[in-house]
Amino acid sequence: MKYLLWALVLYLAWRWYSAQKQKGDAPATDDAATPAASTPAATSVADAPARSEAMVRCASCGIHLPVSEALPAPGDLHFCSEAHRARHDAH
Ligand SMILES: [Zn+2]
Repeated sequence: MKYLLWALVLYLAWRWYSAQKQKGDAPATDDAATPAASTPAATSVADAPARSEAMVRCASCGIHLPVSEALPAPGDLHFCSEAHRARHDAH
């Protein structure tokens, strides 16, 4: 009967441990913000850890910025702002 108690304690400890581990490993992801309509290839960037985030280049002004802050556009393009995306579309 005592083994059962130990098993329960170990189970709870393991549950607590994995919960703590999960909290540290998984920062909040903004997958909900991903547009469903375009660029399925862009989702592969989400595999990279948040700290060493992929950098992309604005197709309009050439500035480099984290992919999470860039505005995606069809044709694997990225833009630093809505204004630059509109400017590129106008051409
Ligand atoms: Zn720009």
